[in-house]
Amino acid sequence: MSKTEETTFRDRPINIDDTGRRKWIQARQPKGKWYNRRTWFAWCCILFLVLAPIIKINGNPLMLFDIAHRNFSIFAVQFWAQDANILALIMLIVVVFIVLFTVIFGRLWCGWACPQTIFLEMVYRRIEYLIDGNHRNIRKEQSNKHNLVFRRILKHVIFLIVSVLITNIMLMWFVGHERLIEIITSPIRDHLLGFGVLMGISIFYYWIYAYFREQVCTMICPYGRMQGVLMDSKSLSVIYDYKRGEPRGSKTSGDCIDCSRCISVCPTGIDIKNGTQLECINCTACIDECNQVMKKLKKPAGLIRFDSVFGVENGIRSIINTRSIAYSFVSVILLVILGFTIAGRTPVETSLLRVPGTIYQEIGTDTLSNVYTLKVLNKSNKNKNIQLRLLSPEHGSIQMAANKISLPEDETYENILLIKLHRKSINSSSTKIIVGIFEEENMLERVFINFVGPEK
Ligand code: SF4
Ligand code: SF4
Repeated sequence: MSKTEETTFRDRPINIDDTGRRKWIQARQPKGKWYNRRTWFAWCCILFLVLAPIIKINGNPLMLFDIAHRNFSIFAVQFWAQDANILALIMLIVVVFIVLFTVIFGRLWCGWACPQTIFLEMVYRRIEYLIDGNHRNIRKEQSNKHNLVFRRILKHVIFLIVSVLITNIMLMWFVGHERLIEIITSPIRDHLLGFGVLMGISIFYYWIYAYFREQVCTMICPYGRMQGVLMDSKSLSVIYDYKRGEPRGSKTSGDCIDCSRCISVCPTGIDIKNGTQLECINCTACIDECNQVMKKLKKPAGLIRFDSVFGVENGIRSIINTRSIAYSFVSVILLVILGFTIAGRTPVETSLLRVPGTIYQEIGTDTLSNVYTLKVLNKSNKNKNIQLRLLSPEHGSIQMAANKISLPEDETYENILLIKLHRKSINSSSTKIIVGIFEEENMLERVFINFVGPEK
């Protein structure tokens, strides 16, 4: 890092030069324990991304967000639009977990599990290393003009193909793999609009990964911008041990020899020796690189390591603080509420509403009736034969077109029905009644409604 960069790194993004133009960051491929771990983890994530909408448990996909049909499957538990309360609770839990995770582990998500980093570092960048060579050779390779044009075209064609693949994988999360296969195998003219949208998204992905790259993390991602608020001195993060490293330089007493190798592998181009920075995605590449330098110098590894400011200052690694305890407590409470809410969920969702504008009808001298619209949604993945029974009050009955309703999975039954009550069961102008939804002798749901009668 030049003297100017040393003093201006806080004034402007690291990838912008003093004339305001973008500087391309061509990070060298890291090597080492952390990079190997990250590679394994990234490929597990990619495998999950590909397989989650395909794998089915009890007939439900592991993950599916079918917004068009308002059908969601999260870890093979199916939710409908009627479960909006549970979905909202899950979203709240995810947010609290993100906050808790960040308070403890800093921006670890960004460097290890974020799809942007996984695809950029483990897919696109690796293709680039294969075709262009590692960073140090790029200039040498570029002097070979003959090869260069061919390699550029090859690289960008592969980038485009990978972008189309990623778009299709993402689409699978929203329409399911059966529908995706159907779309792919049918003629393009049958879904021209959809095809155009998919191509547009693919080109957008290509632009992100081939051109825009690390700027998503350093300039756009709102999660990155929240780090300053979420992290504190006990949050773990990739950190340079300034107590051990300084004063730096080959002829000084600190362990850092100022070789800049940690900068050369950094995908966001920063110098971690300047302290914790918003641009650091905690990818751990600089840890591997510095550990190799330390090994050559026969000094202990960990000059750059996963630690906290508190840990570097005091030599103690502690992730426990008031905030982490408070967020853990909130997470546990929310999880318990979610557990109870899911356990109390019924496999059918019934709505029984009095037909608007109607009042009661008299049948003979001692019976009154009300007309209702019945809607039953089968939220399970099995066909259901259901029956409605009047549970309360005693002296009454339900009259509908069929005694039993055969309801296929994911389908809704809709009809009109009549509820009749004996006058002695009617105690006010609005009598509370309870209807049970049964499958054989198993009660699936209870519905509470009002029966309109004469003023008493
Ligand atoms: S790689 Fe290690 S020794 Fe070299 S500059 Fe970075 S921190 Fe210092
Ligand atoms: S400073 Fe280190 S951990 Fe942070 S982004 Fe750069 S290489 Fe990754």
